[in-house]
Amino acid sequence: MRRLVFERRIHEAELLNPESGFEAEVRSVEHRRDPLTGALCRINVERAGRIKEGAKGGADIPAPRGASEGDCVFCPWNVESMTPRFPDRFIEGGKLRIGSAILFPNLYPFSKYHGIAVFSRAHGRSPSEIPPEEIRDCLRACIEFLAIAMEKDPGAAYGSINWNYMPPAGASIIHPHLQAIADSIPTRLQDELLRCSESYYKRHGSNYWIDLIETEAELGERIIHKGPFMVWLASYAPRGNNEVLGISPWISSIFELDGGRLGELCAGISKILRGYWDMGIRSFNMGIVPGPLDREVEYYSLNLRLLSRPNPEAHYTSDCGFMERIHLEGVVESMPEAVAGRLRKAFVD
Ligand SMILES: [Zn+2]
Repeated sequence: MRRLVFERRIHEAELLNPESGFEAEVRSVEHRRDPLTGALCRINVERAGRIKEGAKGGADIPAPRGASEGDCVFCPWNVESMTPRFPDRFIEGGKLRIGSAILFPNLYPFSKYHGIAVFSRAHGRSPSEIPPEEIRDCLRACIEFLAIAMEKDPGAAYGSINWNYMPPAGASIIHPHLQAIADSIPTRLQDELLRCSESYYKRHGSNYWIDLIETEAELGERIIHKGPFMVWLASYAPRGNNEVLGISPWISSIFELDGGRLGELCAGISKILRGYWDMGIRSFNMGIVPGPLDREVEYYSLNLRLLSRPNPEAHYTSDCGFMERIHLEGVVESMPEAVAGRLRKAFVD
C-alpha cells in the first residue's frame, strides 16, 4: 500500500473588525489539494457564521407549482399521463418500473441517454424518511436503464447516477428523483478521475482508491464507516460543504453493483441522509461515478459523493460564487474532520 500525502497550507488574512471596535484580527484560510486530481479547495469555517442578507426575507414565499401532491407531475396519479415515454424500440411500454420506482426520459435532456427515476411514494417525505429499499428500487431502475443504453448503443460507455434535492441544489421538481445519464464521452469529473486513477496505477502499481481507504483508516480522522463492501469518509479536499465520499473498493463498473453491495450502498446513503437531516441540511447533490460501462478496470473503484447545498428559503445565498463557477475551486465552510465526526453517529443504530 502506498501511503498518500495530504497537502495543506494555511494563509492568514489580516483585517480590522468593526464588530470588535476595529481590533486587528487574523482570519485563517486553509488551502487543500485533492490527493488524486490535485484540485484545490479553500476552507474557512468562520464563513458559516457570516450574515446572509438574503435570509432576512423570511420564508413567506409561495410554494413552487407542483409542490403539493395534487399538482405534482411525478406523483403516481399524474406520472403516467404527464411525463414522457421512450419509444417502444428502446423500452417496451415507454417506462421502466422496478418495485416502487418508475423511470422515463427527461423532457429536457442534456445527455444522449437521460432518464429520470422517481421515488414514487416520496412526495412530501424528507429524503431521511425514504427507506433503503426504495432507494434500491430507484438505483436498480437507473442501472437497468444504463444497461439498456449500452446494449442499444455500445459507444455510450460513460454513465452516472445523480440526485439534485430541492431547488437550491438545481432540482426543478420537488418530488424526489434520481437522474441517470450516459454518453460516449465522460463528464469532466469522470474524465479527470479516470485519467488520474489510471496514471496513478501506472506509476505506483496500485489502485488509488484502495490506497486512499487504507491511508484514511490509519489516520482515522475522516473515516465515517467501513463495511464489507463500502467505505464512507469525509473528502480531504471537498468541492462543497459537508462532502462525503463513498467508495466501493472492489468494483469499477456499475453493473457489478448488485445483491449485498447494492444493499450496503443504499443503507449507507440512507444513513448519510439521516445524518444530514439531523445536521439541519435540507438540500443536497449526489453523484455516483462509476468506471466505463463496457468493461471492469483495475485502476478505478466505483465512488459517489454527496454534498450539502443552501437550505430552501426566500433569497437564500448561493454557495456557488465566482470561485466555484469561474475559477472552479470550492470555498468550503465545513471542516472535513468535523463532518466525519458528526456523520459517524448516523451509522450507530
Ligand atoms: Zn409528487
